[in-house]
Amino acid sequence: MGEFELIRQYFLPLARVRGSHSLVLGPGDDCAVQRIPPGSDLVFSIDTLVEGVHFPPGYRPDFLGWRALAVAASDLAAMGATPSCFTLALTLPAAREPWLRDFAQGLGKAAESFGLVLAGGDTTRGPLALSIQVHGLVEQGAALCRSGARIGDLVVVSGTLGDAGAALDYLDAGNPTADEKFVLERYHHPRPRLKLGVALRGLATAAIDVSDGLLADLGHILEASAVGANIDRARVPVSPALARLKGESALDYALHCGDDYELCAALPEAGWAAAPPSLKAQLTVIGVIEAEPGLRVDGIAVSSGSGAEGFDHFRRAT
Ligand code: ADP
Ligand code: MG
Repeated sequence: MGEFELIRQYFLPLARVRGSHSLVLGPGDDCAVQRIPPGSDLVFSIDTLVEGVHFPPGYRPDFLGWRALAVAASDLAAMGATPSCFTLALTLPAAREPWLRDFAQGLGKAAESFGLVLAGGDTTRGPLALSIQVHGLVEQGAALCRSGARIGDLVVVSGTLGDAGAALDYLDAGNPTADEKFVLERYHHPRPRLKLGVALRGLATAAIDVSDGLLADLGHILEASAVGANIDRARVPVSPALARLKGESALDYALHCGDDYELCAALPEAGWAAAPPSLKAQLTVIGVIEAEPGLRVDGIAVSSGSGAEGFDHFRRAT
């Protein structure tokens, strides 16, 4: 199967636009064309997944397709952007049809679920790797940045943390228990908090998605905002499944592990008090922004720069 036949059969179906859409020209030309609606900002980001680094060798292609787009879309959620389209740069060792079919199926399900249309891409031969660039739109000036947290703001997180990190312990489990299945599902099929991100627009002063671990990612907000924070360990939300699987150490997973793709945000107390119950139900207050720089858990400083707080490619590689 040639490159163009492969694209036509497996990827063009993900390029179909329903109704009016800002994507005015999809795959097939030298570039795609997106029309930015007046009064909007284009928000875009790229993520790369490399076999053996970001996913295990031989990883299920349908899971890979979902996960790759979810990871990329999560950055749009963190900015409060409404997803519009994406490009896919795919490097494959060979054009194996069953693999491509399953990969495109996982990717297509995710695209449909997140509201992202395939705008184009690039297909090359080499060790398995993929890069996905996602585009989203926000009202001009409304993108949620890491840099706006203010002293006295509450620190909130969505959902539960640590599940996907714990799943790494069970990736090879032959006959997983119900709890193991729950955390494995969280790893294989992350659900970026796109609607929540949009709902936090105008309410949160800063936001980030938890990809590398809560302490590490909250640390990025603190650094960008030039503030500090204190977190109540007991308030960090963990799932019942994680609590049963890991007992006392469940909270360590929640604080240090990434891959959950929940959101962490800062917002003023008054905004939180006035927030709609449906929004509050998706969030847990875990701490407060303080003037003293650095991150504390129950008042005890978390050492930064040790590499213990999150994932860092180059720190671990050297
Ligand atoms: P060029 O040589 O101009 O870069 P390509 O041969 O790389 O063009 O791509 C031809 C067309 O096919 C482009 O419109 C590109 O967006 C699209 N395309 C290539 N690979 C993919 C892919 N994996 N998914 C979607 N579209 C793709
Ligand atoms: Mg090309």
